[in-house]
Amino acid sequence: METKVLPITTESLAEARAIIRDGGLVAFPTETVYGLGADARNAAAVAGIFAAKGRPADNPLIVHICDKAQVEEYAYLTPLAEKLIEAYWPGPITLVLKKRDCIPDIVSAGLDSVGLRLPGSAAAREFLAAVGCPIAAPSANTSGRPSPTAAAHVAEDMAGKVPLILDGGAVEIGLESTVVDARGEYPLVLRPGGITAEMLRELCGGLLTKPQLPTQKPLAPGMKYTHYAPKGEVLLFATAAEGAALLSAHAEAQPLLIASAEMAAELGYADSFIPGKRGDLDAYARSIFAALRLADSQSRSVILVETVPEEGLGAAIMNRLKKSAGVL
Ligand code: AMP
Ligand code: MG
Repeated sequence: METKVLPITTESLAEARAIIRDGGLVAFPTETVYGLGADARNAAAVAGIFAAKGRPADNPLIVHICDKAQVEEYAYLTPLAEKLIEAYWPGPITLVLKKRDCIPDIVSAGLDSVGLRLPGSAAAREFLAAVGCPIAAPSANTSGRPSPTAAAHVAEDMAGKVPLILDGGAVEIGLESTVVDARGEYPLVLRPGGITAEMLRELCGGLLTKPQLPTQKPLAPGMKYTHYAPKGEVLLFATAAEGAALLSAHAEAQPLLIASAEMAAELGYADSFIPGKRGDLDAYARSIFAALRLADSQSRSVILVETVPEEGLGAAIMNRLKKSAGVL
């Protein structure tokens, strides 16, 4: 299959609409990462997403909508969800709610819930408005690989597998949405993201933490798989002393160093990818997946990454980094 990469125009949106109507797949930008979309009401179309990504069937998809009023077509609202929608939509937060029957089981991986999101990115909403249907979309990467934050990353993984990639340039946030179970009285964070636990606690006056029941099925099933992993080994370090020790232990492998400008200078190691200054978490979030993909494109067998404090957006960054390192 030929894969077109097109800027977002009236013509490319009309093409996207026709592909989606005929049960095909279109990759599109959002403010978080690029998504791989199909008509959420069409089980056969959605099966195409799982096939193109090699995604396990028990990992549910997020359904994207372009109007708050559509929530009730696909799910049962709760007072908590209304509060979160009012505060954060359009934006980088997915609400898990009890689903209605029009959402096929393949979308929810057999769960009785559905994750819904109204994206903040204007390009995503233009796409959603043009196709005129709810779009089931996971990140547009091969399962297990770092998520795509630019159209070129999507093409790396999906060329030949999807007919159209809409190119909206680099994304704003660079990490996937916060996933929140909004069925209870307080939010339960299933996946940390740009809307942080601290923000949710402040808004809602409380926050549930993941129940520790030993035999419970994972609440956000996708989070149990290998994720965000480049081909090389990711090793995390916090201090310059640890970084120096890792650099000398792996000198032969010529590791790529991913670190703040200050840390790279302290270590005196030029072969580095520098997302920004120490503490610039927005910059870190925006470029961490691109940095991991760069390491792959350079065939690095070892990638050394400076950690960030696990607070605010740092919790979401560290969640992705630990998963890419295989320690979560
Ligand atoms: P992705 O779109 O690839 O970033 O993955 C979507 C994430 O949202 C995965 O971790 C899913 O497990 C989670 N998710 C989607 N729908 C639900 C749902 N109904 N219940 C719990 N988690 C969900
Ligand atoms: Mg994903």
